[in-house]
Parts: sequence; C-alpha cells; structure tokens
Amino acid sequence: MISKKMAEALSDQVTKETLSAYLYQAMASQAYYLGYKGVANWFQIQVQEEINHAKKLYQYIQEQGAKVILGAIPKPVGSYKDPIDLFEKTLAHEKKVTGMINNLVRLAKQENDAATGKMLEWFVKEQVEEEEGAGKQLTKAKAAGSDKNKLAEFDKDLAGRK
Ligand code: MG
Repeated sequence: MISKKMAEALSDQVTKETLSAYLYQAMASQAYYLGYKGVANWFQIQVQEEINHAKKLYQYIQEQGAKVILGAIPKPVGSYKDPIDLFEKTLAHEKKVTGMINNLVRLAKQENDAATGKMLEWFVKEQVEEEEGAGKQLTKAKAAGSDKNKLAEFDKDLAGRK
C-alpha cells in the first residue's frame, strides 16, 4: 500500500497528464486551422498517449488500494503561430513533465517505496522518448523553415504517425 502523500502526488500527476492531453488537443486544433493536417494528426496521436499515461497512473493508484483524487484542469493558454512554435512549446512542456516525474521518483526514494519507484521507471524512459520525439520534429520544422514545399513534405510525413 502506498502512503496518502504518494497517492496524492500520483493523483496530481494523473491530472497533469490529462492536462497534457488537453493541451495537445488545443495544439492539434490550431495546427489543423493553420492548414497542417499532418501536424494535427501528430498531436492527436499525442493526445491518446497522454490519456494512456494518465490511465497507467490511475490504475496503479487503484491497484495499491488508494483513492484517485482528480484536480481541476485549467483552460489551455497560449497561441501557436506555426509548426516551429508548436514543437518548441511541446518540447518545453515535456521537459517540465520530466521534472514532475523526477520529483515523483525522489518522493518514492524518500518514502522507501520500491513498488512506486519501479512503476515510475516506465515513465522515466517514456519521458526520454517524449523529449526526443518533440525535439526531432522541432529540428525538422526548423530545417523546413519558411520553404512552402518543405513544410508540405514535413506535414505529409507527420500524417503517417499512428
Ligand atoms: Mg505524458
């Protein structure tokens, strides 16, 4: 059984992962509006990933016999002017999430909670992939720059993400 403090911290992360899904939903809609349907697809897939992250934590809390306490999700703020802007903000957001996961790992260590520490290993690895994924798209978006053909190619590429 996990501590009440740990259940609250993990519950908070369920809210944060759901917030990530909501944020990426907003980014997908903006990408679509700007005419980047492939980029919109990439963000829609990301929405599903974030929902899965939330679900994983949610199920773990329940398996541990603790209560999931969901928090409020604020309105997504910020405007996104182009794919570079979208992926810069995605990378910055994922770096923030990595910091949150690291804080949970630290709490697990402090509480000598080996089970939670083990469960969080998946998230530690996942965050490396999330930062790498966003960083890769940012590099490609920057390489396309303002070249319309290259941007169209980049967008087409992202339409293939499943
Ligand atoms: Mg996540």
